[in-house]
Amino acid sequence: MSYLTHLECSLCGQCCPANTLQTTCPTCNRPLLARYDLAAARAAWDRDSLAEREPTLWRYHEVLPISDDNRAIKLGEGYSPLLPARRLGEALGLPHLYIKDESLNPTGSFKARGLCIAISRAWELGVKEVVIPSAGNAAGAMAAYVARAGLRAHVFMPADVPLPFRLECQALGADVRLVAGLITNCGQEAQKSAQQHGWFAVSTLQEPYRLEGKKTMGYELAEQFDWHLPDVIIYPTGGGTGLIGMWKAFSELEELGWIGSHRPRMVAVQADGCAPIPRAFHAEANFATPWEGAHTIAAGLRVPSAIGDFLMLRALRESNGNGVVVSDRALLTAQMRMSSMEGIFACPEGGATLAALEILLAERWVSPQERIVLFNTGTGLKYPDALPI
Ligand SMILES: *Cc1c(COP(=O)(O)O)cnc(C)c1O
Repeated sequence: MSYLTHLECSLCGQCCPANTLQTTCPTCNRPLLARYDLAAARAAWDRDSLAEREPTLWRYHEVLPISDDNRAIKLGEGYSPLLPARRLGEALGLPHLYIKDESLNPTGSFKARGLCIAISRAWELGVKEVVIPSAGNAAGAMAAYVARAGLRAHVFMPADVPLPFRLECQALGADVRLVAGLITNCGQEAQKSAQQHGWFAVSTLQEPYRLEGKKTMGYELAEQFDWHLPDVIIYPTGGGTGLIGMWKAFSELEELGWIGSHRPRMVAVQADGCAPIPRAFHAEANFATPWEGAHTIAAGLRVPSAIGDFLMLRALRESNGNGVVVSDRALLTAQMRMSSMEGIFACPEGGATLAALEILLAERWVSPQERIVLFNTGTGLKYPDALPI
């Protein structure tokens, strides 16, 4: 089922066993990456065999960490549509513009991909109670997979989280605790409780497997573009698992012999109230400094400091990519435009990718014949007070 072999630190290279529960690197505390025997997978696995498989992310189970199919928690996650954005493309003069619509995932966001794999693997390794600090979509996704497996979920959310996010977690059976302050305060509380009660924490990149779920977006793009990756990917960036995961997927795909060396230029979009990654990218820094006083309506982008900062910056640089900053007003206006022109009720984070594209077009950083993918990372339904209506 899985060709998983071991874990490897993304910064110092230390190797750890993958058959026991792991968090971050024991030496430098940075994220651990799952490694697979890709040479063996390449010999045994033909990409044409995918045609007969179920249209979910489990179609790539060889490069996912779960070895017991009975521990694979399934809600129909992944294999989201790659939609040609015909009307937006005509308006912008871009005939090859696409939207990868992640709002169709279970619980309405691409967080389902990461939490599906993290919870399945934690369950397989014997975990019974999990905890997450979340400003929204991650908590709902975790609560859903935990409920389906019959485990116990604890969620720490900022007290000002929009009501739909909280109700969703409670309906899915999670123990929800509201914390005064930001997501960073929730993180501290979650960490404390985890130690106190022996719960397993599934915070972004604090365990190796959410990344593995998110990387399937890269496999899907390759497959949906018939193994010719697009020229530009515009991605709304918070903790960065999607960006880092896709970049990892492209390397794995080349090792599998399924794609060549062409890579998309990766663009990280953040809001002007919290933009540590574009700031570090333009300063040519290897790590990002924490953003003071982080604020934006796009909760998924409100991550002042990310443990995977250097991995995002590496992907941006190696791909000749870019970092773009948009205002809340611009991303909300773009959210409305994406929704009304393409029939996708986008989330504010998805809108941010369109706002960024308009900036890149004006700067002539993208050209008309390029194949460009915008990521709509979730549904607009959970942010009832954000829209300028
Ligand atoms: C979490 C989230 C993001 C940011 O994703 P990362 O991969 O962690 O950078 C973007 N959009 C939405 C809707 C999110 O929930």
